[in-house]
Amino acid sequence: MEVFRSKGEQSSWSAREASSGSSIGFVPTMGALHAGHLSLVDRARRENGKVVCSIFVNPLQFNKTEDLETYPRTLERDLALLKEAGCDAVFCPSTQEMYPEKMSKRYDFGELDQVMEGSHRPGHFNGVAIVVNLLLEIVRPHRAYFGLKDYQQLRIVRRMAEMEGHSTEIIACETVREADGLAMSSRNVRLSKDQRREASTIYKALVRARQLYPHKDPAAIKQEAISLINASPRLEVEYFEIVDAITLQPLERSSEGSPAIACTAVYAGEVRLIDNLSLNA
Ligand code: AMP
Repeated sequence: MEVFRSKGEQSSWSAREASSGSSIGFVPTMGALHAGHLSLVDRARRENGKVVCSIFVNPLQFNKTEDLETYPRTLERDLALLKEAGCDAVFCPSTQEMYPEKMSKRYDFGELDQVMEGSHRPGHFNGVAIVVNLLLEIVRPHRAYFGLKDYQQLRIVRRMAEMEGHSTEIIACETVREADGLAMSSRNVRLSKDQRREASTIYKALVRARQLYPHKDPAAIKQEAISLINASPRLEVEYFEIVDAITLQPLERSSEGSPAIACTAVYAGEVRLIDNLSLNA
């Protein structure tokens, strides 16, 4: 497995592989890898000749310094996991390598980033779009794999790829969960034992929302889900929204026809967890 720290090395490798006829599958990550990330690598491996994974904790997408500073970093372990998973190349640049100059680009995603993560984390999606655009330019993959766990991010990445004219196919991958339903996340390691136990309520509330939809109005479902989560002493809902799965705008009415998704962000102490569930399944 190759490990590249410079943009030049990574793009030369990609160009070589593509010209020798290999399709390239790409999995961008911020490291602290878990089975969720590895499921993306696995799928990329099945669908492409070569697989590239990137590990880069992108400062531009953190709106709180404390969150950036406490983000888990486990590079040696990550590289061992990727090698074992059959990854061909890992791109792990420094911040200076990625951003030698200040990035001032501003994307206009319209209503897509005015809600949920976009409204609670100002600048977050602009930072995500900047880094993913840059990574796609460097790696030039045929396919790039993103988790449905970060549903709004996936919608934004698709929009960015369209706006920038990338030919890369953006592929959505199912959320991998712990046995009790908690979505795997790099942030889970920061949970105390009690917080970890209570955190499974987030998935229970999402499942409850799916059961209630389309029998009740979104407002009533939302209220019930929030009460369920907040009944856990160590959890506090930041938002719980039932939105149109395409436009991400809040739904006023439940209807079996339109694709809907419940999305939530919950604090367990200082740790912010997000999750979502399709309500049409
Ligand atoms: P991150 O390192 O958190 O930026 O995540 C890198 C990629 O892995 C993103 O496309 C995430 O959506 C995806 N991902 C994170 N957690 C999971 C999970 N539990 N299941 C599936 N994909 C995930």
